[in-house]
Amino acid sequence: MKKVVLITGASKGIGSAIAKRFATGEYIVVINYNKSEAPALSLSNEIIATGGTAMCCKADVSNATDVKNMISEIINKFSTVDILINNAGISYEGLLSDTSDEIWNNIIATNLTGVFNCTKAVLPYMINQKKGKIINISSIWGICGASCEVAYSASKSGVIGFSKALAKEVGPSGVNVNCIAPGIIDTDMNNNLTEQDKKDFVEELPISRIGNAKDIADTAFFLCSESADYITGQVLAVDGGYSI
Ligand code: NAP
Repeated sequence: MKKVVLITGASKGIGSAIAKRFATGEYIVVINYNKSEAPALSLSNEIIATGGTAMCCKADVSNATDVKNMISEIINKFSTVDILINNAGISYEGLLSDTSDEIWNNIIATNLTGVFNCTKAVLPYMINQKKGKIINISSIWGICGASCEVAYSASKSGVIGFSKALAKEVGPSGVNVNCIAPGIIDTDMNNNLTEQDKKDFVEELPISRIGNAKDIADTAFFLCSESADYITGQVLAVDGGYSI
């Protein structure tokens, strides 16, 4: 039987690459988006055209009602969610002194409360079937902390604490919870970086290149496979060695 995988923020970047990685025919790929409807639909069509099964669901992950409606839609159609990949996220660069309450709240609501909303909504189905995999996309900045990205780093550290605690709570129910902590990955999120910024960053890396979305997608796919059944509560840094 096909497994249902829900990927939040799958309209572009890392989420889109994860959706493509799961488009193998063995999975029903649910593409969540908030604003980018056209790319989400085009991705869904691409997966269907190559023989896969996909659907798009609009929901703002920071909005609990939106998330509940999205999960109801998926359950009505496919009866369960086997894999949840909490990938949706936003970033903000600026001094803490320039971080308004609104920016702070928006970062935490999307990056951390979004993980809470989606996880809480799917867990009953996973626990009921005594099987499930949850992957939360954190960041190396959630491990190391980034100057001028305090809100973002705090939200991503929160995701790590959330994942470790939940892994202990739901491991006995057959649900694995792990984190991926990407380094600098070539997506729209880093459009603000200059070529020189990227060059400087690469100089600090044992593996001398910026990461790509497929690097993260391959890791997520592995962590959701049976080969990773004995791995839970872990934070896997996929960062070219930046954090060692
Ligand atoms: P991206 O290209 O900017 O894509 C972000 C995705 O998140 C988009 O699909 C966007 O969908 C979605 N999203 C944002 N807010 C949302 C909301 N409220 N509800 C639902 N979806 C929402 O960024 P990315 O680089 O792929 O980032 C993906 C994840 O990786 C994020 O959690 C990010 O923090 C993490 N990460 C990225 C890097 C990096 O270097 N790129 C490094 C470490 C961690 P819409 O456009 O439809 O709103």
